[in-house]
Amino acid sequence: MQQPQGVWSITTPLPFRPREVHAYLVELQGGGWMLVDGGLDSEDAWASLDAGVGAHAGWSEIRLHVVTHMHMDHIGLAARTRAASGAPLAMGELDAKRWAHAALHPDEEAEYRTALFRGNGVSAEMLERMEQGGPTPSTQPLGVEYPLGAAGGDLPLAAGWSWVWTPGHTAGHVALFRAADGLLIAGDAVLPRVTPTVGVNRQRRDPVGDYLDALTRLGSLRLACILPGHGEPITRPAERLAELRQATQAESQAIGALLSARPSTAWDVARRRYPGRDLPPSAWVQALRETLAHLQHLVAAGQARRELTSENVLCFAFA
Ligand SMILES: [Zn+2]
Repeated sequence: MQQPQGVWSITTPLPFRPREVHAYLVELQGGGWMLVDGGLDSEDAWASLDAGVGAHAGWSEIRLHVVTHMHMDHIGLAARTRAASGAPLAMGELDAKRWAHAALHPDEEAEYRTALFRGNGVSAEMLERMEQGGPTPSTQPLGVEYPLGAAGGDLPLAAGWSWVWTPGHTAGHVALFRAADGLLIAGDAVLPRVTPTVGVNRQRRDPVGDYLDALTRLGSLRLACILPGHGEPITRPAERLAELRQATQAESQAIGALLSARPSTAWDVARRRYPGRDLPPSAWVQALRETLAHLQHLVAAGQARRELTSENVLCFAFA
């Protein structure tokens, strides 16, 4: 593929799969640069980012730092980027709010997780293992000069670029679009090989529905190439968007097919979805969050109903 004009990818290492994440350095009209995403907050990742930026620009030439979403492999180096460049930070409004809240109330994050596990029928034994799965990584407060709202619009300080709200993977996920050549910097909203994980969150009622809407929004753009947060550039955008829509809907249907007239908890449904699997606790947490998101989507679509037991455990059944 031809290198998109004035855009350079900077790949930094991750100590877990998918092993690498891409930041993008973008030359701006009228001078200066924009940095999109960074990497995990580790010495290795910082060394790679610093070298990657240094190959084209000085840190003081960065005019704007944009974070596509609040996951650690994308936002982790934001504080160091700020210290090196002094550039203002832009990110999705809902992610900025959530991040600020987590930085101020770290205990509440742990309580939310425990309540989520208990309220969805996770067994006491698995609950213990999931909680040992580790504390949520600590978040440091970040000033966000430009919270990017749901309506989308022209990106500040970066002529020719706009942002698109692409919720699902996180509630406030954003992608960046350059209309002149149909280039999309997609973060984790569109990935070449896997369907982005879409799990329940505290901010949106139907994250799967949100994600399908985001795919529709992206599909309405004249896209020529998508630069993802992980993996290779996507040169057939329309095809990939259609595949992701199909895979997301198929997963909802597969989860719906595991329901019966008798109410079951999301935990029971997640175990039916992955029968006999001995997954590590962190993977079960993810499976539970995703299963629950699809169950909520089925409820929103009128294909499932939910009820609370007398012990305040949430259950789902056929509508
Ligand atoms: Zn990522």
